[in-house]
Amino acid sequence: MSYLADTSLNPAALEFLERIERQFYLDDDQLRAILAQFLKEFELGLSKYGESPAMVPTYVTHLPDGSERGTFLALDLGGTNLRVCQVTLLGNRQVEMNQSKYRVSEALKTGEAEDLFNYIADSVDHFLTTADVPLTEDETLYLGLTFSFPVEQTAINKGKLLSWTKGFAATHAIGNDVMQMLQDALDRRHIHVKCAALINDTVGCLMSRAYFSGGCILGAIFGTGTNGAYVDNMSAVKKLSKDAFEGARPDHMVINTEWGAFDNGRKVIPRTIFDNKLDRESINPRFQAYEKCISGMYLGEIVRNILLYLIDNSILFGGDSSKQFNAHYGFDTELMSNIASDKSDEGTACRAILTQKMGMDDKVVQPNDIAIVRWACTIVATRAAKLSGCAVAAIIEQTHCADGHEDFVDVGVDGSLIQFYPGFEDGLRSSLRVLVGEKIEKRTRIGLAKDGSGIGAALGALASLKQERAKQGLPALTTGPDTDAAPSDEANGVDKAGLADSVA
Ligand code: ADP
Ligand code: MG
Repeated sequence: MSYLADTSLNPAALEFLERIERQFYLDDDQLRAILAQFLKEFELGLSKYGESPAMVPTYVTHLPDGSERGTFLALDLGGTNLRVCQVTLLGNRQVEMNQSKYRVSEALKTGEAEDLFNYIADSVDHFLTTADVPLTEDETLYLGLTFSFPVEQTAINKGKLLSWTKGFAATHAIGNDVMQMLQDALDRRHIHVKCAALINDTVGCLMSRAYFSGGCILGAIFGTGTNGAYVDNMSAVKKLSKDAFEGARPDHMVINTEWGAFDNGRKVIPRTIFDNKLDRESINPRFQAYEKCISGMYLGEIVRNILLYLIDNSILFGGDSSKQFNAHYGFDTELMSNIASDKSDEGTACRAILTQKMGMDDKVVQPNDIAIVRWACTIVATRAAKLSGCAVAAIIEQTHCADGHEDFVDVGVDGSLIQFYPGFEDGLRSSLRVLVGEKIEKRTRIGLAKDGSGIGAALGALASLKQERAKQGLPALTTGPDTDAAPSDEANGVDKAGLADSVA
């Protein structure tokens, strides 16, 4: 309320705004109800297929502890670029890597799947020849693929594509095994690379954080979307039958929750007319209900909906709008973040954004308007952060990870929202305090997962190699630091300076 307290708004306008603010406020009882519903939906998703959240078994059965060693290839496919990395795990929580980026054209994204996978194989070939990867004739490199599309996995190295998202639409891919399509393309080129692990970005986040921290209970993404992965007891994963495994049934498995779909049944999160408008006009109405209150793709749009409503009620900008404010998704979450970073009394940066980015006339924008825009960003972001804390609390409860000891509870995170939005972590922690208590909240360490899609995929490839050796009855790989490998001075040893970016 502090932004509105200093305005000269009349009591009727203030009452109007306070009514909106109350709709975005989550009290402690509501937070507790959300946590309870989370645990209910987790249980259901773990017991049956086709539920939301999907609680996808990943067939990753162990987390790294930082002692892992070896050189692996990692691919990251999901956005504009394909990233190819060579990752060397040094076994002392240190990593060396180099990478190249290859542009994935619109034609490849929407053409024949075989062409797309041929292009990926060509990129791997180009990387191996130019990056000087030491590889003898009979040596095979193990590859992990970070693939951020919905997949149904049946093994760590097998997964059927369920649907494309994010502008991909290559034909003859849906229903097929992604790893097989990639392996076939590599084989056609006689490249000595074995597709070993198919890794979701949340799983990569979890594994990367575990490698650098020595342990981790949750890998969570708060970026364009939101999702999380954690380790559960197999006894909880009721939907996986005994014959789901070729070898012995493992004790634990990493679960990709797909928690963006939490509360699709609209049971616990109070929804405002601004949320309903967003949902109705989205490409997936009624789906990803939780994500739509939380993630970068949507927060700006909720704020835009509030501001348009206030414009229409002549409370904001004297009833004026702009082309940018009128456009669907016209107000990016990054702008909210920049507005929230503006600590000046008069909101200088906020004014600059409204006039330079959002096309408002400088003469129209009054001090009251700036206060209202800042207030709207605050109430939407605060709700998002508090809701995010509910998911973290749910994983702490689900795994009982804080019980019976005094150690840190380590959470690995990734995504622009948690990384850059001012106060996002504070808001997340405020609901964590309510839900798991101050003592456990204090013990919860939230840290950025370094390059989950690169290092995480490499760790996935190693996990797959270990599973293969165990199945063949071969001895376990030795771990621990190479005595020759000099630890670098840098805390986590990621050799960023050595990254060679060549966008082909
Ligand atoms: P992705 O999730 O696609 O891997 P990011 O983690 O960078 O990518 O998240 C992108 C989302 O974050 C976009 O929706 C964007 O609006 C939002 N975003 C970008 N920059 C910032 C910022 N500085 N603060 C908050 N959100 C941001
Ligand atoms: Mg990301």
